[in-house]
This record gives sequence, structure tokens and C-alpha cells, in this order.
Amino acid sequence: CGVFGVIGLDQAANFVALGLHALQHRGQEAGGIVSHDPEHGFNSARRFGYVRDSFTKASLMDTLPGLLSIGHVRYSTAGSKGNTQIRDVQPFFGEFSMGGAAIAHNGNITNAAALRRELIERGSIFQSSSDSECIIHLMARSLQRDIPARMEDALRRVEGAFSIVAMTRTKLIGVRDPLGVRPLVLGKVGDGWCLSSETCALDIIGAEFVREVAPGEMVVITRDGVESRQPFRPKKSRFCIFEHVYFSRPDSILGGRSVYETREAIGRELAKEAPVEADLVCPVPDSGTPAAIGYSAESGIPYGMGIIRNQYMGRTFIEPTDQIRNMGVRLKLNVNRALIRGKRVILVDDSVVRGTTSRKIKEMILDAGAAEVHFRIASPPTAWPCFYGVDTPERSKLLAANMTEDEMADYLGVDSLKFISLDGLYRAVGEAKGRDPKSPQYCDACFSGEYPVEPADMIEQGFVM
Ligand code: 5GP
Ligand code: SF4
Ligand code: MG
Repeated sequence: CGVFGVIGLDQAANFVALGLHALQHRGQEAGGIVSHDPEHGFNSARRFGYVRDSFTKASLMDTLPGLLSIGHVRYSTAGSKGNTQIRDVQPFFGEFSMGGAAIAHNGNITNAAALRRELIERGSIFQSSSDSECIIHLMARSLQRDIPARMEDALRRVEGAFSIVAMTRTKLIGVRDPLGVRPLVLGKVGDGWCLSSETCALDIIGAEFVREVAPGEMVVITRDGVESRQPFRPKKSRFCIFEHVYFSRPDSILGGRSVYETREAIGRELAKEAPVEADLVCPVPDSGTPAAIGYSAESGIPYGMGIIRNQYMGRTFIEPTDQIRNMGVRLKLNVNRALIRGKRVILVDDSVVRGTTSRKIKEMILDAGAAEVHFRIASPPTAWPCFYGVDTPERSKLLAANMTEDEMADYLGVDSLKFISLDGLYRAVGEAKGRDPKSPQYCDACFSGEYPVEPADMIEQGFVM
């Protein structure tokens, strides 16, 4: 998901809509915006589909006045997966004795089922099926006197990944879980401040990037400025390495590094680790593009756009049903026959999950007359599901959980298939010595199976690690 918030700008909700538009790649199912102004109180709008279709109409934006606003774009990882109902669309709102608060959450709470059970037994009335709603109910039960302190109380009971943007009548609040699994950045714009999942959304509204919200930090922003709090016991951070590979936009800066440059470096590592003789390096657009550019630069094999992407389609993986996903590949990608014919082609993609994309693309490339097809993948084999906010399927559907690399190559029907090593990936994100096996610098559970936070709900449901 993507989260964005603004304080101190007139018509703040308009800036939030723009920010969410720049974060649309993080969630395309639905979006919501809440705003507050002293005259009208809190207002909200939730809509299915793209921000650019829902939140540009003046009639709607007029219903969201005020200097303070937050928003969320949704990609279902919990709750009604693939079947989003409007009641599951964030931000969620709660009314407390000291006033209302709205929260927007990116990540996934790993003990949400247990918390929900406990809260329902104690009288909470849930409105949605979302894990994030627990936070509001935990806040309602807190005895603290102000809302940020209630949030601190609530979040100390929550496990898993959370980057949260919240608002009260007068404050904009940002928090990251102690491991800092999901990104969150602070920006300054005119007299106002903003919080965003990624820096690319600061650029769109002309905000200046101030800094990242640190793992385990809470920032409380008012007219008087930014106050930093430390609600949690400090831990060594474990940022999601897959944000670098795929999830974030290439024009964003993560941990001081350009995502584009990191992806190019991944491509260069991949070319060193898994060279092959060929005539053309071709990305699976758009997610494989920077890595393909790096692979080509390192190997000296020419880069070409052998697959053309229809710019009007979203990310296929995020369309929730298998049927749509299957069609999606062809709706989205087409082969550039003139370039491919007779060539030995290296296809570079960011990841293989179910193998749907790679299989279809291989067929399309061979139909177009390629002499050979070699796949090079910019991440290690995805063999484990993510429980921290990326919607990977269960193990039975993950190709790499059920096959060796050679079996995968056979299954996909390609001449060769190679993945970057986990150490190679760490080098590409700037860890010169690779992965520290005793204390890994990132979360890489979907590749390693080493989960930095025990997925309590999943274990309860019988998930075997
Ligand atoms: P597959 O077709 O193998 O199931 O999925 C791989 C494709 O999905 C890649 O092209 C990748 O760009 C895309 N993708 C989109 N979202 C995700 C995600 O959340 N996780 C992973 N691993 N791949 C994703
Ligand atoms: Fe990121 Fe993978 Fe960890 Fe999920 S399991 S947070 S996708 S590295
Ligand atoms: Mg892709």
C-alpha cells in the first residue's frame, strides 16, 4: 500500500490526491482520503480504482477541505483479499474522548487475528475485515490523555510491519515499526509538511525531501514543527530488500540510495554471476528495465526493447484473481517482432513468483522467432510468502518453493534460467561484504525463509516454516 499526508497547506486533500497518484504503483484496488478543517470537522471519501479517476473531480475534492489531510492507496494483503469491499478501504477513523483520529497503514500486522479476537471479546465493534483496524480499537482502550500517546500504547501491542500516517484535528503523525520494514519519508513544502511512503510522491508536489522517518520512530507534526518520539525498544533495522528490487518506484530514494541505480547494479551483478552468450538483452518492462540496462552495460551485449508495454495497464501481479492475472500478461505486454527475430535473447525480469509472466513471455518471444531465450532474474528465487505487506501467494503456488532452478527452467521451457544470489543482491544494495548471515541487514524472508518477526497468525493457522 501507499500512504501520504499533508499538514499546513491550503486544500491539503488536493496535495494528498497528487501524492497518492505518485504512489499508485503501491496499490491500485482502491484509495481513500480524510481531511479536517475546524468548520466542517473530519470528512472522508473512499473509492475503488485509480486515484486519477476518483479524486480529481472538483465536486469531490470540495468535500475535503482543510489544512490537514491523509490518504491511502490499497493493495490487499489482509482482510478481503482480492475482494475489496469499501469498508476495508483506509484511512480508518476513530472518535475518542479527546477528538477524532484517522490512520492509514502500509504493511501487515502479524498478530492481527489474536488481537481482533481479544478486542471483540472485550466489546470492540469491528467495521472491516482489515488487520489495520485493530490499531483504532487498541487506541480506544488506551488510558493515555492524548492521541499520539494512545497510538504509542496501541502500537506497542502490534507485531509485524507498519508504516503509518495518521492525523488528529491538529497533528499529522508518522510511525514506522521498530524494524522499519516499510518505507516512510518526511518532506517540507512551503509552510507545510508531508509524509509519504516514497520520495517520488514528494517530487510531484514540489516538496523537499527532509529525511526518512527512522525505524521505530514516531514523528508528531504540528504548526510548531516536528517532534520525534521513540515509542519502542530499539532494534536493528530490517528494511524490506524487495522494495529495492521491485516494489518502490525507480525514481525514489531509499536509505540514501537511488532505487534506479540499485537496480542497475543488480543487473551488473547478475551479468557477472550468470553470463551467457547472446545477441540482445531485453527487459520485461517496466519492472525489469533498470536491471536489464545494468546487465547490458556489464556484459557488453546490446540492450533493446524486445517487449513493449501498454502504458494503460497496471501491474499484473496486483490484479487479484488468477484468471485476470493470466490474461493480464498479454493485455499488458507485446513482442517487438522486428527486433527479436533470429536473435539469442536474454530476458531480464525482477522476480518469478508463480511463473505466469515468464511462461507467457517465453511463448511470445519464441513465436516471434527468437533463436534462444535465457531468463535472468534480478532477485533470488521467491520461495517463501511475505507476511509483511507484499501479497505473495502461499508456498504451494510459488514456483521456487516447489522446484529446483533446473526444474523451473524446464517448466518455463527456456534455454537457461538464473537468479541473482542473495549475496549478490546485498552487494547491489550497497553491502560490500554481502549478507551478514548472523544478523542480516535487511528483511529477505521471501528468499531466505528467515522471518524477522514471527508470523503468529499464520503459525496459528498451521503455516509450517
Ligand atoms: P509471476 O508471473 O511469476 O507470478 O510474477 C512475476 C511478475 O510479477 C514479475 O514480472 C514482477 O514484476 C511482478 N510482481 C508484481 N508484484 C509483485 C510482488 O508483489 N511480488 C513479486 N515477487 N512480484 C511481483
Ligand atoms: Fe520484503 Fe520479502 Fe521481507 Fe516481504 S518477506 S518484507 S517482500 S523482503
Ligand atoms: Mg514485472
